[in-house]
Amino acid sequence: MIELDGAVGEGGGQILRSALSLSMITGQAFRLTNIRAGRAKPGLLRQHLVAVQAAAQVCNARTTPVALGAATLEFVPGKIRSGDFRFAIGSAGSCTLVLQTLLPALLYADGPSSVRITGGTHNAMAPPVHFLQRAYGRLMAQMGADVEIELLRFGFFPAGGGEVLARVQPGSRLKPIELLQRGERTGGFAESFVAGVPVGVAQRELERIGSGMGWSGKQLRIGGLPNDQGPGNVLLLTLEHEHVTEVFTSFGEKSVLAETVAKRLLNEVRSYLKSDAAVGEYLADQLLLPMALAGGGAFTTSGLSQHALTNADVIARFLPVSFSFEQQAHSVLCAVRPW
Ligand code: ATP
Repeated sequence: MIELDGAVGEGGGQILRSALSLSMITGQAFRLTNIRAGRAKPGLLRQHLVAVQAAAQVCNARTTPVALGAATLEFVPGKIRSGDFRFAIGSAGSCTLVLQTLLPALLYADGPSSVRITGGTHNAMAPPVHFLQRAYGRLMAQMGADVEIELLRFGFFPAGGGEVLARVQPGSRLKPIELLQRGERTGGFAESFVAGVPVGVAQRELERIGSGMGWSGKQLRIGGLPNDQGPGNVLLLTLEHEHVTEVFTSFGEKSVLAETVAKRLLNEVRSYLKSDAAVGEYLADQLLLPMALAGGGAFTTSGLSQHALTNADVIARFLPVSFSFEQQAHSVLCAVRPW
């Protein structure tokens, strides 16, 4: 049984999610204490609870009783099985984080699977579905994963009610990739989605993005959504390069000017563009697990977070890999190697 302390490093939910994915795949049981001890509201929140229940269902695991707020979990995995799975978070908790827990494991199932999850699809502090599709999904495909992700309905905080559907075809082993440069720019566009929010908000955000990026016409897209998918507003900026696609996100908030929402996004985009790294800070922490499963790989990133370092430590408890992080002039070089 692998013993993990959920208070170490960042002390957040990723320790749990990576442990679940890797326990399912490697067949190693784990015991996690102090779950999310580094957070203001520690223990299992709805998103984490559903991740545990979903993982247990997919691999027929035995667990200690789980409930909201639980601070300890023992997870003894069985065999991963394919199927058509449905999970409801029952709040605006992130669908994408639950999906990201299951996807790598379903690549090792005995047949194709589909996973349908309801909850939040566009949450602060989680990858929006568009990020999973375009940024994470593109690199997973390059590594050989056959995964399709469909956004059926938007779900914003606090109402939730969004829905995402993923189809996973197992079979090919993940293969190592090296992503040292992003390559030439091949495309770029911004989208503002509004549900139950005046369309003028989207127009103002996109105008600001247009002047900041030198973009116009079809590069600035308004996505009007039915009112019952809101209220909510998300501003997304997608940058396509030869070797990688990045998606940057900013959320409209009551009493925050549309121009401020756009400016926050532009700041993030500029700091990525100022570095010469292939991937941004979020994609960096999300690439570590699939790269470790592939048995190796390397990438450069514009920022190395505590989140990524903590994730690397958890991954190395389950898989025979080591990580190295080397500061370079305008990026950090991350390498995953077998040992
Ligand atoms: P907690 O730590 O409170 O338990 P959590 O479980 O919801 O929170 P974290 O452990 O903080 O989440 O993990 C958040 C994940 O979401 C990270 O993998 C991070 O890369 C990703 N993420 C956060 N914001 C974005 C964003 N704007 N775009 C893409 N990914 C994001």
